[in-house]
Amino acid sequence: MRSFLLAFTFCTFCLSSTAQFSFSDSSVRMRIRRDIYVLASDSFEGREAGTEGEKKAYAYIISRLKEAGVPPLSGNNYLQPFTTGHVKFTTPPHLIAGKRSFEWRNDFGLCAYSASDSVSSPWADAGFGLVIAADGIDSYKDIPAVSGKIVLINLGTPPGISKERLRGAELTPAVRIADAVIKGATGVILYNGQGIENSRLFDFSRSDSVSIPVMYVTTGVIDFIKKHPGEPVTMAVHTERIRNIYTNVCAYINNGAARTIILGGHYDHLGKSREPRDKGAYCVGADDNASGTAGILELSRYYAAHKDPLNNYLVIFFSAEEKGLFGSEYFVRQMREGMKDSINFMLNFDMIGRLGCQGLQVTAEATGSSPAWSKLYREVKHPAFSLEKVTASLPFSDQDAFYNAGIPVLYLNTGLHDRYHTPLDKPETINYTGMTEILKYSKELVGRAGTGEKVRYRKVPGIILDFEMAGFILSYIGEQLSF
Ligand SMILES: [Zn+2]
Repeated sequence: MRSFLLAFTFCTFCLSSTAQFSFSDSSVRMRIRRDIYVLASDSFEGREAGTEGEKKAYAYIISRLKEAGVPPLSGNNYLQPFTTGHVKFTTPPHLIAGKRSFEWRNDFGLCAYSASDSVSSPWADAGFGLVIAADGIDSYKDIPAVSGKIVLINLGTPPGISKERLRGAELTPAVRIADAVIKGATGVILYNGQGIENSRLFDFSRSDSVSIPVMYVTTGVIDFIKKHPGEPVTMAVHTERIRNIYTNVCAYINNGAARTIILGGHYDHLGKSREPRDKGAYCVGADDNASGTAGILELSRYYAAHKDPLNNYLVIFFSAEEKGLFGSEYFVRQMREGMKDSINFMLNFDMIGRLGCQGLQVTAEATGSSPAWSKLYREVKHPAFSLEKVTASLPFSDQDAFYNAGIPVLYLNTGLHDRYHTPLDKPETINYTGMTEILKYSKELVGRAGTGEKVRYRKVPGIILDFEMAGFILSYIGEQLSF
């Protein structure tokens, strides 16, 4: 009883306190150090999404938000649970053409639209696989019956397609696959990544699968199949769809302003290592991404103590980034239109703890998402490090869902290193002074970007995950699936 009362008194104090913090470099360094040591301790079990370790991590994050007087986004609850799909392979998928068997992940990937089924049949080349009656386009019109056949579809865009069509749904893989199903195809093999909508083709969190197997293959495979016209193709997929529950943590500093800045980063990590070399050891993820989590906590302390009349601050700790960016995708999906329109910009912090691992350099990704970034790039000083710009937003961290929703984004990180995704990514390897400098830079950046006009969104032209990247995409996607 006594301990319960004590705990209750403590929490009430935390909720009502407007704790005063010093924002001297040494105080900031001390707090981020403490947060990273706690979040990346073995007792948090590697913070794998959906596990007890993740629960411990969000309980800690919430305790620190309360201490800083940062309120929840909705009501009294900081937690935003969501469910998502997960594919379990009972056996790895197979693709065989004639006598040749191809290698999953290197030669082909399974698409999220795929059914769990096995087929063996002749194939038909359906070209671009398009049926657009309004433009008189029908890729199937000169092909002998495709019913009962596996259909090959080039995901590229044929010449002569109008600009309106390019923006519409007709060219998406989903519609082309659905047309093949209507024509009676027994399976679909997609190739040529031009036109792939980021990683949507491999987003297993959705449930809009079709009734036949669907795979994506590299050039080598499609060339082989086409060189052996009389030989049947076998596609074998044995999967089970499982639902998971993950939890984002969302806080909101409401300054009564018309627009809102989002500070985000993922707090989940990998749990136990699955590598034979260090199997069973916890990957504690000090840099990935206890560093970003601690950085956002620190920024939220600052913005809770320094009211900004021009902006509200939405602070999001994403879950299931490591499983496939599910937390940020869910957050964007559930945002109301009004809220989306009020977002000024989003800053993503993922791996900001290893300044020095690639020289004294911070990488700012997705700088093309607004013309404002190049101006601020020149104006905001960063004496402790150089700044490397990457124009594109790539689907490898949480900013990408916001970028795709038309929100200007910027993703700061200190780069990859040899401890990345291993049990050696530990708190003692973090550059706390470097992190403090990055946070100072972020405050300065937010301060400049947050005043004046709303930051303008720009779509970066020509960013497609093209054919050359196919192998890379397949191996990246493969890592997200457990089997
Ligand atoms: Zn990671």
